[in-house]
Amino acid sequence: MQGPLKEMVLESIDLVELIGERVGLTRKGKDFVGLCPFHTDHKPSMFVSPAKKIFKCFACGAGGDAIHFVMKTQRPDFRDALALLAKRAGIEVSPTSEGDKKVANRRDELRRVMEWARSYFRRNLMETDAGRGALDYARQRGFTDATMEQFNLGSVPDGWN
Ligand code: ZN
Repeated sequence: MQGPLKEMVLESIDLVELIGERVGLTRKGKDFVGLCPFHTDHKPSMFVSPAKKIFKCFACGAGGDAIHFVMKTQRPDFRDALALLAKRAGIEVSPTSEGDKKVANRRDELRRVMEWARSYFRRNLMETDAGRGALDYARQRGFTDATMEQFNLGSVPDGWN
């Protein structure tokens, strides 16, 4: 979902407005200047260029486009930052690529496996003779049923497989 979406988002976002929400900006010729939020700035070192759609701090070197700014201030993940800006710009991001779908499916699959494992081990502990010893031990150590439920305590039956 990079490429066209990224271009579209950067084109639509008003960088001065975006940065202006966090930093007081003053117009200086074609650019805007403000105190850099990325270092302890005492005189305005950060320049924002509405024409080039970039920001740059001449003291600490921080700089980039709107996505970089959001990544540095709110969302470290590129895709999250892009999605946040797309939403801000009113750009629909809905049709996900095949790659995204694969990742989502894989995540669902893993979640199902985890859920299956959780209930399997939990059943071992709570409902089987094999889990009896572990359950007695846990109770003896002061674990209540509620605590065991909350922390998804389970047990593994003895055996090589
Ligand atoms: Zn700086």
